[in-house]
Amino acid sequence: MRDDDPINALTASNQERDQAQQALDDERNFLQSVLDGVQDPIKVVDRDYQILLMNRAAMQNVSSGSSMTCHSINYGRDKPCTGDHVCPVRQVIATRKSVQITHEMYINDTEKRFFETKASPLFKDDGSVWGIIEVSRDITIRLEMEEKLRASEAKQRELAHHDALTGLPNRLMLVDRLNQALPKASRHHHKIAVLFLDLDKFKNINDTLGHDVGDDLLRVVAQRLKDCLRESDTVARLGGDEFVVILEEIHHQHEAVKVCRKILETLYQPFFLGEHEISTSASIGVSLFPDDSHDVDGVLKCADSAMYRAKEQGRNNFQIFETEMHTSAFDRILMENSLRQATERGEIFLHYQPLIDLTSGKLIGCEALARWRGPDGELIPPAAFIPVAEETGIIIPMGKWILQKGCRQNKEWIDKGGKAVPISINLSARQFKQHDLIEMITSILQKTGLPPRYLTLEITESCMMEDVDDTINVLQHFHDMGIGIAIDDFGTGYSSLRYLQKFPLNMLKIDREFVKDILSNEANHTIVQAVISLAHNLGLAVLAEGVETVEQQDFLKKKGCEQAQGFLYGRPVEAAQFAEKWL
Ligand code: C2E
Ligand code: MG
Ligand code: MG
Repeated sequence: MRDDDPINALTASNQERDQAQQALDDERNFLQSVLDGVQDPIKVVDRDYQILLMNRAAMQNVSSGSSMTCHSINYGRDKPCTGDHVCPVRQVIATRKSVQITHEMYINDTEKRFFETKASPLFKDDGSVWGIIEVSRDITIRLEMEEKLRASEAKQRELAHHDALTGLPNRLMLVDRLNQALPKASRHHHKIAVLFLDLDKFKNINDTLGHDVGDDLLRVVAQRLKDCLRESDTVARLGGDEFVVILEEIHHQHEAVKVCRKILETLYQPFFLGEHEISTSASIGVSLFPDDSHDVDGVLKCADSAMYRAKEQGRNNFQIFETEMHTSAFDRILMENSLRQATERGEIFLHYQPLIDLTSGKLIGCEALARWRGPDGELIPPAAFIPVAEETGIIIPMGKWILQKGCRQNKEWIDKGGKAVPISINLSARQFKQHDLIEMITSILQKTGLPPRYLTLEITESCMMEDVDDTINVLQHFHDMGIGIAIDDFGTGYSSLRYLQKFPLNMLKIDREFVKDILSNEANHTIVQAVISLAHNLGLAVLAEGVETVEQQDFLKKKGCEQAQGFLYGRPVEAAQFAEKWL
């Protein structure tokens, strides 16, 4: 056989062509099988919307009889799409860049699903775009989940900021509103009036007619209050029968007085609830920003003090705050004088209350709580004398004595070989601002010999937020020494979460107010849950204050709270009694 035989040459060239075709088919099959392995639909579309290639996932969405154009397959249309969404073919050709679009598509003509499609250009050698390759991902489930999450977050927010019984804003939202309103009023040189309102003898109604009637009454009171006010005013329920009203854009006290009169009058009208006709009245305390105080805590406290005065005046009336109201139960001057000598006379002493680990039931710490055996022998609770000690500065020497006493006591217990746990000591705002606080505490630890890890300082949120940079410095110093730091009464102040993260803290104590009715008050339940997860996110231990029942304990435990304090485990008691029971 000769090579230049034309027949032989033809056969050879046919063979080569077959082999080349085979190689092309192999390559195409290989490519197809790779594309089929991808779970997301892939399509190659040319400039005329013709689909040249698609993988198995894309084929699944093709109904029989469709023409092989993207608009027919994706949307069942016989013409290219216009208007209702970005056309990836036209967009990619126009921009020569990838685009990403989200669009809806009907599967099997009935089921609507959402796809996220990324389309990229396919270039010829001369640089022109001959088509696109698009990869789509079915995001229907993701979008549904996101929607559900958004709805549940909105619901949580709503619950966390509203009182479940009346639908009014709760304490959290009230504080929020005041935080916004105060700076605004300063800018515009307005005043704000805060009305603290408490129903008279509400407890009697609850006790005699039952809680359901009590609840109904609170709902109607809420409505009547709203009806007395302007849209821009706020009425919130703090809990129980306590309401707070914020009147914005006040120019003079008498405008607030007018509203008080209106409220007293409407609440004095009888309430018809089912078969009952109920009469009640209210006592209102009024404070004005900026006249009485410059901060949220302050205006609320002033209005509260004024409300107590209104109660003392025989109820069904209102009182405007006056400075001397802060100590309504005592003659302030008298108290101040006795209090000055109280520490030296040995009238101040400490009680100790256990802090408990909820999993093991074991003691993990104790809190020192100050007591005052007054000049007449009566026991005065700290809520009555600590604020006076604060205002007058007596807290500085008194607080130092409390720190010394607590640290010495704990060292003594540890030396006796009992259980060694940290002692928690409360620091008030004034003490926390004391310039020599670090030196004082260092020296007390040295003198008593108590290792710093056996001391925890309890500080309230509002006190920490006053001068954030300073707070961070002081806390960091204590932290470096090994002293524990707990935020006390968490939830009642208005911490900025941004700052909370910056403070070197160990523990967050949930205020008793929220624990008290945790089982019946859905909002408090939500708040407690949020605080627990917040603490965990910040890597802090979380302790619930004021746990009085097993039900509260079990509920908190279920929510992930790991520590508790309360009458359920032990009331605050004298040192000897504490050691006997717990150490
Ligand atoms: P706190 O630091 O939040 O202390 C816890 C308060 O809750 C204590 O009230 C305690 O007796 C009370 N408590 C504990 N468990 C329960 C419970 O199950 N039910 C109820 N209803 N109450 C419970 P206490 O001793 O009257 O102290 C009140 C506040 O006075 C303290 O609140 C703290 O802020 C302040 N305080 C007490 N001692 C000192 C002190 O030495 N220095 C300073 N600066 N403040 C102190
Ligand atoms: Mg405390
Ligand atoms: Mg507390």
